[in-house]
Amino acid sequence: MIINGISVAVQRKNIKNMYLRVVPPEGEVKISAPLFVSDDKIIEFVESKMDWILAKKTQISEKKYLPQLKYVNGEKHYLWGEEFTLQLIANNIKTAFVKEDILYLPVSKRSKMKTRQKTLEDFYREELQKEILEIYDKCTAIVGKKPSEIKIRKMKNWGNCKQNKVITLNLNLAKKPKICTQYVLIHELCHLIEFNHSKKFKMLMDKNCPKWQEIKKMLND
Ligand SMILES: [Zn+2]
Repeated sequence: MIINGISVAVQRKNIKNMYLRVVPPEGEVKISAPLFVSDDKIIEFVESKMDWILAKKTQISEKKYLPQLKYVNGEKHYLWGEEFTLQLIANNIKTAFVKEDILYLPVSKRSKMKTRQKTLEDFYREELQKEILEIYDKCTAIVGKKPSEIKIRKMKNWGNCKQNKVITLNLNLAKKPKICTQYVLIHELCHLIEFNHSKKFKMLMDKNCPKWQEIKKMLND
């Protein structure tokens, strides 16, 4: 079916309600409809969801064109919320560093992308470790709790806190403004008091990190 200029694949099934999906990577619109529902009802349903469909399609196409990092000269990378231009240099020094707006990455000319990525991640890990040390006393004093350990990992969430009091922070926090690491650490420390995201937890956050909603938005931008 073509509805408002958008092609919609309709599949009829023995179901009760209509289900609409926008499927990556092409942003194809698919609808599952009950066996005996009229075409008019389907059109009406799709039209009522048009804003959502268009937003979803845009979102999918933007994701598709998100540039894949190659770790080559001139590429843009982030540290603590600031943009740097990548410059590969000889690997007779061990760690990456930034100077003015250049991020110098010590890797051999023939290094593989994986090696370059790892060298940069080692740098991010060091930076994040330093920052955690910097804010540890302040954050644990604010919340009044201490973790048994803080780990750094590449992961889906920005942080997590386990029952054994181990807090894990996402390596990519080193790309965001420093205030974000502080917010995530306080969030995870608050889980040592409240293990869920209940009202009580939000009240703890309001008290311990009054601007947390603003920072959270910055973090996920
Ligand atoms: Zn949480």
